[in-house]
Amino acid sequence: MKTKQNFFSDNPDIDRQFSQKRMNELFAWLSDAEKEALGATNAEDYRKTWIDIMQVVGEYCGTTLESNAQKVAKEDLKLVNGEVVFPKTIQENVRIFKEVGGHAMSIRTEFGGMNAPFLFEASSFEQIYRACPSTALNICWFGSIAAIIDQFGSDELKNEWIPKIANGEISGSMSLTEPDVGSDLAGMRTYGEQQADGTWRIFGNKQFISNGCGEISLVLAHNKKGSNSLRTLNLYLVPRKLNGKNNFEIAKIEEKPGLHGSATCALKFDNSVGYLVGQDGHGFHYMSHLMNEARIGVAFQALGVMEATYRLSKNYAWQRESWGKPIAKHEMIAERLFDMEVELKAFRSLCYRAAHYASLITLGERRLHEKQLPQAKLDEIESKLRYYKKKLREWTPLIKWWGGERSYVFARNAVQIHGGYGFTTEYKPEWWLRESLIISIYEGTSEIQALMCIKDTVKSIMTNPMEFVENTLGSRVMALGEKDWLMRRFLKMRQTFNLAIVSIFFKLLKNKVKGNFSANQPADLLKMLKLIGPELVKFEDLSPALLHAGRVAEMRSIVAMTYAIIKDSESDESLRPIAERFVSRYTPVLNLLKTQIDGDDEYFQEQVLGDSETLAKAANTKG
Ligand SMILES: Cc1cc2nc3c(=O)[nH]c(=O)nc-3n(C[C@H](O)[C@H](O)[C@H](O)COP(=O)(O)OP(=O)(O)OC[C@H]3O[C@@H](n4cnc5c(N)ncnc54)[C@H](O)[C@@H]3O)c2cc1C
Repeated sequence: MKTKQNFFSDNPDIDRQFSQKRMNELFAWLSDAEKEALGATNAEDYRKTWIDIMQVVGEYCGTTLESNAQKVAKEDLKLVNGEVVFPKTIQENVRIFKEVGGHAMSIRTEFGGMNAPFLFEASSFEQIYRACPSTALNICWFGSIAAIIDQFGSDELKNEWIPKIANGEISGSMSLTEPDVGSDLAGMRTYGEQQADGTWRIFGNKQFISNGCGEISLVLAHNKKGSNSLRTLNLYLVPRKLNGKNNFEIAKIEEKPGLHGSATCALKFDNSVGYLVGQDGHGFHYMSHLMNEARIGVAFQALGVMEATYRLSKNYAWQRESWGKPIAKHEMIAERLFDMEVELKAFRSLCYRAAHYASLITLGERRLHEKQLPQAKLDEIESKLRYYKKKLREWTPLIKWWGGERSYVFARNAVQIHGGYGFTTEYKPEWWLRESLIISIYEGTSEIQALMCIKDTVKSIMTNPMEFVENTLGSRVMALGEKDWLMRRFLKMRQTFNLAIVSIFFKLLKNKVKGNFSANQPADLLKMLKLIGPELVKFEDLSPALLHAGRVAEMRSIVAMTYAIIKDSESDESLRPIAERFVSRYTPVLNLLKTQIDGDDEYFQEQVLGDSETLAKAANTKG
């Protein structure tokens, strides 16, 4: 039976993210041509246009996708004579998405797209993932592929491929991972060889490529055989077919616990014709752009899982009774449900803040590039962009990390709240559990996000050490001037995070520098930062920082979400109890994480992390 819901209009928490203030900021950075293409003469019109489009997306998700999701979960795709054959239901989902024009959302109007700010595109990811993760992987992210070609490709590549993505004629893939290399990209073996006509020939194997059957693949590969530096990586656009023949092969499609309707392909490139995107040796930089946006996209997928599993849990808990009342009224279940709601809303506040900044960065960079505005206006844009970029660099690994680690916990909660039924395939929670497992893996695992987070944390401290010292030691003074007790609690939470970083710095310096430092003395803190800054890259033993990277990511995510939900609650009073609960729930978590960072586990340090000699000795003595 077809369901009739609307995943946008049934969720005021999304609508609130498209505040008029945000729309004003976006509208102010549109060019006249962009305004004209949308027919929007003011920021209110602009908002209305996008809200109408969100209604259409929400209806597609709540009707077509929601009705078909369980069929998609059960119909496997097949590889027949080297071609992926998609089941009927996926084909129907994709066809209807194209009919509503969803695939062209973020592409510029010059190429036939709608020029949607990333904020709206990301929101559509959330809604689509809430309905059907498999379909999401078949429709959601081809705009990002077009964006990379648009930003870095030649005019020929742009004109040939982007309009075809915009009109839904073709789709694509992004080929990084190889059978022996995923996280450590420099170690990949695939390479290109330049030909006399300027094209390249690509050789190598790629693994786990989503939609590897798409008509083009953006392939990351070295510019010569045997290289292992990030600086020799190129980005190639490789068409799947040339003159009707395979240009590269689909060697295999993976069987997986979830995402049954998405083709995860092993690809074989053997003398495959490729076109260089941008400049030789800049591939890693270009791919980082694509990956950063994709990581925010994955955080929105996590939001979709969290929304779906929270709703499933809540609905079931109010229908099911035990001891004469709905299980939602039993204290432990009531608390679990409320905490899911609180975490979901705080996470959404941060994710949409990040997507909004990403949208502003795209628009701002276009204006700077065109140089058509007065210099004073360009300077203003440039200065704002610096701030947005800094914040986005900080938040991207955090939301990817949190989404990956926590959406699975939401799905698991849904299983638990459904009791025995949760463990059966007749009910949806076990399916969500399977669907959520991938979020911590693709687009950079949680561990890789944690490493990026600690790197960014250290970099931003070194760029502005005084600010760090003030935030660490001056929080009490700042708190005195702060009227809102919730904001005072936030300052304290930020201080706890900073002190955890100080603790890691002290561990790094241990045995390196004589004398005692006090974490309470500004002069000592500054001296420590001075010692650590230029030396950090030279430290042979970064273990204390690497060991605690996950904890640092968790702490920094909590601090960032606290700020985001408090700020959202300032313009919407109904969020105030949510912000208060978030603060009271997560202050002890921060304290615990800091205590774990402070502690030293000698056995672990010496025996487990120790060198192979120590390990061998330990193994011998334990017989
Ligand atoms: C369904 C699916 C779809 C995918 N889609 C795509 C796609 O479209 N394109 C694409 O290119 N790839 C894709 N991938 C691949 C995915 O991005 C990789 O699997 C992922 O990046 C991890 O790489 P790996 O599997 O080689 O694991 P490894 O890099 O071998 O890592 C294994 C484990 O070790 C940890 N680890 C590695 N290095 C470190 C370190 N320095 N510190 C701490 N821990 C570390 C990792 O976090 C992980 O837990 C997909 C994978 C799946 C399953």
